[in-house]
Amino acid sequence: MKSDIQIAREARKLPIAQIAAKLGLSEADFLPYGHDKAKITHDCIAGLGGRPQGRLILVTAINPTPAGEGKTTTTVGLGDALNRIGKRATICIREASLGPNFGMKGGAAGGGRAQVVPMEDMNLHFTGDFHAITTAHNLLAAMIDNHIHWGNALRIDPRRVTWRRVMDMNDRVLRQVVVALGGPANGVPRECGFDITVASEVMAILCLASDLADLQERLGRIIIGQTFDRQPVTARDLGADGAMTVLLRDALQPNLVQTIENNPALVHGGPFANIAHGCNSVMATRTALALSDYVVTEAGFGADLGAEKFLDIKCRLAGLRPDAAVLVATVRALKMNGGVARADLGAENVAALRTGCANLGRHIENLRQFGLPVVVAINHFATDTQAEIGALTAYCRGHGVQAVLCRHWAEGGKGAEDLARTVVDLAEGGADFAPIYPDGMPLAEKIQTICRRIYRADHVDFAPHILERLAEWEAAGHGNLPVCMAKTQYSFSADPHALGAPEGFSVPVREVRLSAGAGFVVAICGDIMTMPGLPREPAALRVGLDADGHVQGLF
Ligand code: ADP
Ligand code: MG
Repeated sequence: MKSDIQIAREARKLPIAQIAAKLGLSEADFLPYGHDKAKITHDCIAGLGGRPQGRLILVTAINPTPAGEGKTTTTVGLGDALNRIGKRATICIREASLGPNFGMKGGAAGGGRAQVVPMEDMNLHFTGDFHAITTAHNLLAAMIDNHIHWGNALRIDPRRVTWRRVMDMNDRVLRQVVVALGGPANGVPRECGFDITVASEVMAILCLASDLADLQERLGRIIIGQTFDRQPVTARDLGADGAMTVLLRDALQPNLVQTIENNPALVHGGPFANIAHGCNSVMATRTALALSDYVVTEAGFGADLGAEKFLDIKCRLAGLRPDAAVLVATVRALKMNGGVARADLGAENVAALRTGCANLGRHIENLRQFGLPVVVAINHFATDTQAEIGALTAYCRGHGVQAVLCRHWAEGGKGAEDLARTVVDLAEGGADFAPIYPDGMPLAEKIQTICRRIYRADHVDFAPHILERLAEWEAAGHGNLPVCMAKTQYSFSADPHALGAPEGFSVPVREVRLSAGAGFVVAICGDIMTMPGLPREPAALRVGLDADGHVQGLF
């Protein structure tokens, strides 16, 4: 089997105008970025209102393990398979963060024969969206310190500024810094720090905004800190929202690229899946729904975090109605959930697989709680045995769910046609989607509802002052916001080592943050890293150009 990058380079890409034509778009509807990328224009999108909407399919997964589950790969494979069986399908996925590529090897464009191209661009600078987000974020940071420097008319308390700076690079030394050293000409010294761009609230805002006016409205609502009287200060108070919107105008337009089978893919936005909601942009999903019969999209992490946020945050806020969920499972990851060490995953172990299936079963129940029909996609790995696949299929049958063996990684769309037919049957059967809690429920109860009903925790431990803080936000009119849970992706619980289907635990809520611009309250349950570091041997050591000018060592 060839490597992902070899397969991607050998892809016979069509000129992007031909991909746009598959969506029914004419030359005026898109802005080409080179030969194989384009942005769909604001004007085109504004003209799509009132069109019939395609069906929306969510791809999610069991709890991630280092063994890999393949959500993106399955999203791409299913999109290609739907096209093969005669549906006009578009996939929607997130853009990749550049920085982490130089830490650990890895790409975000799928794998094997189920990939989106141009893969190198997608993992590097792409169409510059992340640069625009970084710049808009840092403009606001610069305006805060500038305002304080020139007399501080708003009476911003420099000790209570929560708006940090961002860059798209893993750089641990910037987590905590002191700015404005060097005397009065350099501003007022204060503590600050950097996050990685995907952790910026501006990223979450770009991904939830419905158009340019809504984007500016949300940017204006960003709370950057407090005054000396502990009153919130917003980006609008500083007059930054207009200029930030200008910087983001082009970035808000969804990016069109293609799969290696020449089907349309919208790759747009990439918010963190812990302190943010982890889905591609609302603009991309809505545009795809107006232009296709089927839209296949992915949510980050496992279904306990990714699907819950997709459904309770993105779909709720954007009024989207998903039609079915595909739950990706692998024999390898289920064996790990059943207690097998990573080194032993190559050996058949039906007993461990059966134990690990408890994790899958809980995710199936959870997705049904949202009123979605579910199919399990078994992402086939070469090491899977017949007995293991049989046991997994039988487990799913016992839970009233169809499990479909998929070989899109090895075979492309052809290998996922059975999955595509099952998805069409489920989606046409109709869903009865509803978020798991109503808008009007108090914030603390929303957190408890997710912890009890999705994670199956016995109780929730709120650190001191958190209930007070939530009550303050409710009094200030933020009580209707959904909550965004930031917890480990590896377990239903807050303990990353508790694999499978843990019971009898409590979830500690250590901190809460208000993302007033994005429109959610973040509940932090554990250590959440918003500025990663590089490992001892970063991938950057192996990255370079070969004699033909091709990138080596990234993937
Ligand atoms: P996720 O979106 O869940 O993080 P990806 O789809 O990005 O996962 O896949 C993670 C990695 O696993 C990729 O490098 C991909 O090539 C690899 N992978 C996915 N499915 C398979 C498979 N069936 N066999 C071998 N490798 C696979
Ligand atoms: Mg992925």
